Amino acid sequence: MLVSNERKGRFIHMETRTKKKRKACVNVNECVACGCCVKVCPKGAIQIRKGIAADVDLEKCVGCGMCARECPASVIEVQEVQV
Ligand code: SF4
Ligand code: SF4
Repeated sequence: MLVSNERKGRFIHMETRTKKKRKACVNVNECVACGCCVKVCPKGAIQIRKGIAADVDLEKCVGCGMCARECPASVIEVQEVQV
């Protein structure tokens, strides 16, 4: 995507690039909604949606992996994703 940035009276066109960042990804089909991940997340990035499965807010997640280490069902992986 092209954006314009005004600097010293001139317009400079810059290309914004998507980046890869490490984020927690949940296999929702295997999640047992125990809430362990919710309790340990230091960023408050996980909620249990409709009492069914964990849901990660990718804006808040910093990819620390604490949720994955605590998950008793081993259904969280920290992966590189496009943001
Ligand atoms: S990786 Fe860290 S910040 Fe992201 S959801 Fe898991 S505990 Fe929270
Ligand atoms: S700790 Fe694992 S099984 Fe429990 S709610 Fe989180 S993702 Fe689901």
